[in-house]
Amino acid sequence: MPGKTITITAKIKILPTEKEKELLLDTIRAVREALNYASSEAFNKKIFSNIQLHKHTYHPMRSKFGLRSQMANSVNKTVCAKYKSMKSNGVTNTKAMFKKPEYDLVWNRDYSLKKAVFSVNTLKGRISVPFETKGMEHFFDGEWKFGTAKLVTKKGKFFLHIPMNKVFEGSEKIDNIVGIDLGINFVATVYDQNGKTTFFSGKQIKQKRSHYKMVRKQLQQKQTASARRRLSKIGQRENRWMTDVNHCITKALVSQYGPNTLFVLEDLSGVRTATEKVRKNNRYVSVSWSFGQFSNFLEYKSFMNQSEVLFVDPAYTSQTCPKCSHRDKTNRHKKIHTFCCKRCEYRSNDDRVAAMNLYHKGSQYLRGSTQQAG
Ligand SMILES: [Zn+2]
Repeated sequence: MPGKTITITAKIKILPTEKEKELLLDTIRAVREALNYASSEAFNKKIFSNIQLHKHTYHPMRSKFGLRSQMANSVNKTVCAKYKSMKSNGVTNTKAMFKKPEYDLVWNRDYSLKKAVFSVNTLKGRISVPFETKGMEHFFDGEWKFGTAKLVTKKGKFFLHIPMNKVFEGSEKIDNIVGIDLGINFVATVYDQNGKTTFFSGKQIKQKRSHYKMVRKQLQQKQTASARRRLSKIGQRENRWMTDVNHCITKALVSQYGPNTLFVLEDLSGVRTATEKVRKNNRYVSVSWSFGQFSNFLEYKSFMNQSEVLFVDPAYTSQTCPKCSHRDKTNRHKKIHTFCCKRCEYRSNDDRVAAMNLYHKGSQYLRGSTQQAG
């Protein structure tokens, strides 16, 4: 397998003192004002090159906004880059605006992270601030590259969002095949080559989702501004919660099976909505977003762990008998979650059968690819 660059955005909480918080806030504000000032200058004078813009804005930026030399340079670079990307997107004759209070930091120029200290340029020079290191340790293996970070502030707290890049080699050989069926009753049903089945229950998720749905419905009827605000908050909370569930399960799978594993999932990208896949009486829950996210998480975590994800055609995975290959729509009894083969009378849970069939598709694929290679 060829190497693949994996990008993960690390979100790190930094721990400034009250004084440092003020200084960081002042810096973020000054940078935003300077960005908008430099953007106006560039737009009005039609100067979109860094060196030319520098001549016009450098001194005002230092005297008006109190920016230090390094930061003034960074601001101009950010402005020119913004106009360049607008132009490549076909947007011309529009002034670039910087609305959000955030500060773009280039690695080793505007910021660095070492052991437990974040060092950043401010209006009063460089300061060093401790940060929460938990979960960050593995990024300091010397192979991860730190991208351009954003310093953002929310409710008096400060965070760094850093895109981290590393090239992973993936797996060289496959020792394990694992079929995974995603669903509603069970978030994931897993079948491996030792014949072991693991069910990750979806009951709690189902309950939580229908609870959220009820609250949403009540709020939608109110139609007040505060109800709308609560509505959007609830949506965010629900998504965060689901994201957490997906992280937990994918992490558990990758660590349970270890390196050189081929995880086999249904390719659901062709399905218009994942609700097409789920049972009729569960149609009220839209899960496509969640399935996509699960697949994504499993894919990058596998790759980081010398394993792989194979997406296969979902056709007939729930209708085919995993023992005798007999295919019949009526093999599956959706209501009682049971699969019963019309030919060999093999019986099992229907999600388990889907996972078994995915496992078989994975081993077929591997046999095919070794034949081609041989
Ligand atoms: Zn059968």
